[in-house]
Amino acid sequence: MNNICDCPVCGGSSPLLDVVDFNKSCMEANGEFLDISGTPVYYSLCNNCGFCFAPELLSWSMEQFKEHIYNDTYVRVDPDYIETRPRQNSENLINSFGNRAYGIKHLDYGGGNGHLSRLLNESNWKSTSYDPFTNTEADINTIGKFDLITAFEVFEHVSDVKQLMSNLKTLLAAKGIILFSTLLTDGNIQKNSRINWWYASPRNGHISLFSRSSLTLLAKQYGLNFGSFSAGFHIFFTELPEWADHMVKK
Ligand SMILES: [Zn+2]
Repeated sequence: MNNICDCPVCGGSSPLLDVVDFNKSCMEANGEFLDISGTPVYYSLCNNCGFCFAPELLSWSMEQFKEHIYNDTYVRVDPDYIETRPRQNSENLINSFGNRAYGIKHLDYGGGNGHLSRLLNESNWKSTSYDPFTNTEADINTIGKFDLITAFEVFEHVSDVKQLMSNLKTLLAAKGIILFSTLLTDGNIQKNSRINWWYASPRNGHISLFSRSSLTLLAKQYGLNFGSFSAGFHIFFTELPEWADHMVKK
């Protein structure tokens, strides 16, 4: 494989940074280790925007992801994805938006089996779930436009960042917001330093790791504004709608 490739975000020169075992998982943060697989996974780091990615896995087909990552044993490395995370996310959204949510259309992008949307709809939201992995028949050009799009634990899993951004832009209403979670690499991944960050885990499908600078660039490329509430929770928006103005401190 080439030891330098182009950054999928900005086109910048991206030398290989390090190599980890395919079975490196986020559970290592809790002291739980899978057997070493023997399959190396390289990560590259963009010299320009700080985007860090696994070039080989970025070229995988959906079938390869289903076979090697999102398979029957995925739950071992991400036990919260079925119930705990959707429930927490729904509670957080309901608490955050309260009555403001009732007039808006919500899309949970990358919503897997649709559990978050179901929970929100039980609380009288108008929520739809879309996941490119499970809703393979759906045409994103016909599912509509949404005022609020959430993408929890999506960005770090995508193999085609530009496709993701283009999809989100297509689905976003003229005056809408995208709330998304992904942990920033800032302070966790750097040049001339080995990868020892728990989040950089191929077994979890964490193949695209964003710096603040790379998200700022992406936002610009797609005519969006970008802001962060924390190191792991962010917003893209065109123009902040009134029902979301409470999210930004005045
Ligand atoms: Zn870059």
